[in-house]
Amino acid sequence: MADVSNLIAVVGAGPSGLYAADALATAGNRVDVLDRLPVPFGLVRYGVAPDHHSIRSVRDTLAKVLERPEVRLLAGVEVGTDVTVAELQDAYDAVVLTYGAARDRRLAIPGEDLVGSLAATDLVAWYCGHPDADRGGVEHALDGATSAVVVGVGNVAVDVTRVLTAPSERLDATDMPQHVLDLLAASGITDVHVLGRRGPAQATWTTKELRELGELDGVGVEVDALDLELEPVSAALVESDRVVARNVEVIRGWADQHAAPQRRHIYLHFHARPVEILGTDRVERVVVERTTIDDAGAAHGTGETYELEAQLVVRSVGYRGVALDGVPFDDRRNVIPNAEGRVLDPEGAPVPGLYVAGWIKRGPTGIIGTNKKDAAATVASVLADLGERDSDATGIADVLASRGIDVVAVAGWHAIDAAERALGAERGRDRTTLHDRAALLDAARG
Ligand code: NAP
Repeated sequence: MADVSNLIAVVGAGPSGLYAADALATAGNRVDVLDRLPVPFGLVRYGVAPDHHSIRSVRDTLAKVLERPEVRLLAGVEVGTDVTVAELQDAYDAVVLTYGAARDRRLAIPGEDLVGSLAATDLVAWYCGHPDADRGGVEHALDGATSAVVVGVGNVAVDVTRVLTAPSERLDATDMPQHVLDLLAASGITDVHVLGRRGPAQATWTTKELRELGELDGVGVEVDALDLELEPVSAALVESDRVVARNVEVIRGWADQHAAPQRRHIYLHFHARPVEILGTDRVERVVVERTTIDDAGAAHGTGETYELEAQLVVRSVGYRGVALDGVPFDDRRNVIPNAEGRVLDPEGAPVPGLYVAGWIKRGPTGIIGTNKKDAAATVASVLADLGERDSDATGIADVLASRGIDVVAVAGWHAIDAAERALGAERGRDRTTLHDRAALLDAARG
């Protein structure tokens, strides 16, 4: 007899996928969680800054989902290559896509492709030990750099700025791979310029993260008081939004402060957008144009420019979702079009059995907890559509085995986890991330 518990595939083992799997299992369903990488946790492992221990500890909560008897991990499986979405739709009662928005956005300015110009996604992947990180490219970009420009004033820009300036004792206690720690400890970077194309009131960082920049040992934060004059639209924002008011207050505390000389300096620039990156073989300078903000809060160039010396430019201007073969995609917003998590076809009708949650549903915004609510809303749609019905779905594990795909199940993940803890223990740390795909797969088999 068919089983009344439905079998559902979740594509992506990051926070959204695991929150969705948890909610689906709690409702009595069986869930296969697939991930392209041989390890779970997505951006919790490869995005959240390693020195943010409390945010990263959400991984312990997510790990419990993988221990549920209703949930099966199928890691190391690339949907779109190893198996198609159509095959998943045939093999499962429902498919929930939660594969995130892991690509970078570009500035589209001359010089962006010079050596030394990186996307924050590249730098973050490198320092988190992502197996696909472009280690050679990032390390070449960092080599010999003394001054860096970080473009963007969101939380990722804060992470990158902190990691580039933090004292090595702070980073030493993290799970960053040893080669990353060694390179950052030897880094000659003394100045990091952070560019916001609008004013301090429009920055998207959160106050706690911003404040941390001023708490790093041996690091001074500086900002020109003239940059902090608020035009009417910004003054209104400060009045109406407590987070904005607190952010502006923190930044004002740094204005025109010339404290004792520090080991490193962070310079915040507002009303400043990069218009060109200059250099012969690699980045040498960044041309910055001053901007004004109109009544709608949009930035406009004034034509007045200045140059910053820099050998490293990190654009931290947001993440971008990408399309998956056979799934509708909104090229303008870089998300999968949906209504309450139900994927919509180009005519606006729901695609039966296909759902979406997380960044690929709503765009790269919010904190990790935002994905719990978001996943719950999608799961409510899945459950409403499936109702009480018999299921004879068989899943895709046998097909993957017949194709020789090296699937990492939860036991493999436990083995990787143990190997990383053992590696960390050698240097008195909780864990050290295995950064190499072959090492991850060896550990999984071990
Ligand atoms: P974000 O908050 O959207 O910030 C992007 C920044 O890039 C904005 O300052 C934006 O300015 C700027 N920008 C975009 N296009 C630009 C251009 N062409 N030229 C110059 N500047 C440009 O994105 P994010 O920092 O990548 O963070 C993604 C999400 O993850 C956010 O929700 C964030 O809060 C979250 N996150 C949270 C934490 C944490 O909680 N600790 C850590 C990391 C990330 P405009 O506003 O002018 O467009």
